[in-house]
Amino acid sequence: MQQAPQITPDLRIPLLDLDRAGVEALTASWGFKPYHGRNLFRWLHKHGVSDLEAMTDLSKALRERLAAETLIDLPRVALEQPSPDGTIKWLFDLHDGQRVETVQIPEEDRSTLCVSSQVGCALDCRFCATARQGFSRNLSTGEIVGQVWHATRALGKPPTNIVMMGMGEPLANFDAVVRAMAIMQDDFAYMLAKTRVTLSTSGIVPNIYRLAEISAVSLAVSLHAPDNALRDQLVPINRKYPLEQLIPACKAYLRGEPRRRVTWEYVMLKEINDSDRHAKALIRLLEGTPSKVNLIPFNPFPGSGFETSDPERIEAFRQRLKRSGLVATTRKTRGDEIAAACGQLVGQVQDRRQPRAEARLPVTLGR
Ligand code: SAH
Repeated sequence: MQQAPQITPDLRIPLLDLDRAGVEALTASWGFKPYHGRNLFRWLHKHGVSDLEAMTDLSKALRERLAAETLIDLPRVALEQPSPDGTIKWLFDLHDGQRVETVQIPEEDRSTLCVSSQVGCALDCRFCATARQGFSRNLSTGEIVGQVWHATRALGKPPTNIVMMGMGEPLANFDAVVRAMAIMQDDFAYMLAKTRVTLSTSGIVPNIYRLAEISAVSLAVSLHAPDNALRDQLVPINRKYPLEQLIPACKAYLRGEPRRRVTWEYVMLKEINDSDRHAKALIRLLEGTPSKVNLIPFNPFPGSGFETSDPERIEAFRQRLKRSGLVATTRKTRGDEIAAACGQLVGQVQDRRQPRAEARLPVTLGR
């Protein structure tokens, strides 16, 4: 009789997938006191230690049990790319050979880490390089937090701000992302205030409501167009969750937080969404919603079919929003020399050499 091939699944528990309560519950289930779990969690995240032997205040019995039944699976750096402006992009290798990118952006008084939530993305926004590689899989909590773990080691301290604005749609990987954001905020881990963790979504409406119930992180929404006709084209998820559903969901997210606003991301695409008419429509759309508009000059990539609006046009658009009373800023493009700017993350090195340019046609809507 032929032998079935031997497959030994790894049943060890990935420790980085667990939030503090999860680590405490695990060690408690083995009969150890909760504070042992808390110490372990602190070793992992606050001290960035991945060697159980170095966790000196854990009992030998606990360390042996951990060594036998758990694993600490950190993403490995495949490539580290520093940019002249101080931005660093890391390409990480995951255990199954998939790859994701993370970007560290230093500023005068803070440092922002741009974290990925999925390998690729299923949402197919027309102006985004990540969309071109399609969707491979969700990241686990450990793979999301692993990016923060690594940046914290590299920086010598945790980033002051984290934005879920790397590869993927965070609200399409809800549970893993929410747990990762809880670890980012934990005092025994990375200690970020809730307002310094920002989740950016293309607008998965039901999950905006779910998020409001269990988390209070800052919300950014990729708007990019002031009406359904154009947004249907640029951000296709709009066909499922159009503006008349998206705007109320975002308003609801702010309920009970009188001082907070939604950040609306608006990529400036030459002769597509950047006219005075679009600005006027945007002002009307956002009336009554506490808002901040962040204009993002389009970051080109090979074969995108789009052009960036002229700086004068962007400034005129911004001034128009400001005159109506909206808070409006223009995002400084960082890391573009190393393809680390918004929408340029593709993860796979080979994709960058062979962009699937021919596969797409540019949007041809007039003004
Ligand atoms: N999926 C989430 C997270 C991505 S965040 C979301 O859609 O919000 C990255 C931000 O950069 C989004 O606002 C995205 O729409 C924007 N973006 C994508 N491609 C871009 C490009 N080429 N130039 C500028 N901004 C881009």
